Amino acid sequence: MTPNFPTLLREIAEAVKSEFGKGKVANYIPALAKVPPNKFGIAIETIRGEQYHLGDAMERFSIQSISKVFTLAMAFRLERKNLWKRVGLEPSGNPFNSLIQLEYERGIPRNPFINAGALVVTDILLEHFAGPKAAILDFIHTLTGQNDIQYDEEVARSEREFGYTNAALANFIKSHGNIHNSVEAVLDVYFHQCSIAMSCQELARAFLLFANHGVVPATQERLLTSSQSKRLNAIMLTCGFYDEAGEFAFAVGLPGKSGVGGGIVAIIPGELAIAVWSPELNEHGNSVLGIKVLEMFTTLTGMSIF
Ligand code: GLU
Repeated sequence: MTPNFPTLLREIAEAVKSEFGKGKVANYIPALAKVPPNKFGIAIETIRGEQYHLGDAMERFSIQSISKVFTLAMAFRLERKNLWKRVGLEPSGNPFNSLIQLEYERGIPRNPFINAGALVVTDILLEHFAGPKAAILDFIHTLTGQNDIQYDEEVARSEREFGYTNAALANFIKSHGNIHNSVEAVLDVYFHQCSIAMSCQELARAFLLFANHGVVPATQERLLTSSQSKRLNAIMLTCGFYDEAGEFAFAVGLPGKSGVGGGIVAIIPGELAIAVWSPELNEHGNSVLGIKVLEMFTTLTGMSIF
């Protein structure tokens, strides 16, 4: 039986209110620090086309690392299993922008969702597309049907200005020969992909691709094989939350991805995608309320992949 989602969402929103003020809005990217901490939205999109939303679910925000799922899906389509020669598949247990592990692993990043791995994935897109920035937006437009989803140039500029760690990661990988384009070109695309602004509703819609085994439900277009979709979900489950991936799997039990803009998207294969936005982050860079909402969602509905 389908749960009564509108009632459930209201109940969850009420219960998580007490979590406001427990986290901090990301401030290492100045343009993100300006986002009001009390923004809060939830959106659910089902494969059958039902939509539910609450609060600021239609307001666009910076998707940040959630973009890594889109670029990974694009690179996986193009490179297939060759992709895994350049980026690993193991959870890192380290913060998203850690440099240490990369040195031990000689420039082959642990997984595609830590920044180092995402930079390699972005480099791959630069090898395949003359206009990688346009290609990334095209892919997202195809997933959402929303052709006005765009880069936020202010966020991209702000991140470039203070992106010393990402520049260090890219240079280090380049020194090991695992970035093929210029570091500046890779960083430019990477900072832009992180700056993409989308709403919870649009994120949930986009992630239906992964809930629906590689087919966009609205158009029936197949973009990934069901095996590729399965594998991307496995990477989200094991690596989607940096050094909190284990705790997220334990508390929520769904594949998903977070970003320092405060967004989290998770999917239930064969059923739905759910996106939450609340900008206050915990010490791992994941949304405090976002995790709480998803934990309550799977607990109260009994829906999870386990
Ligand atoms: N743009 C951020 C960075 O590269 C993304 C981090 C995140 O969302 O986790 O530092």
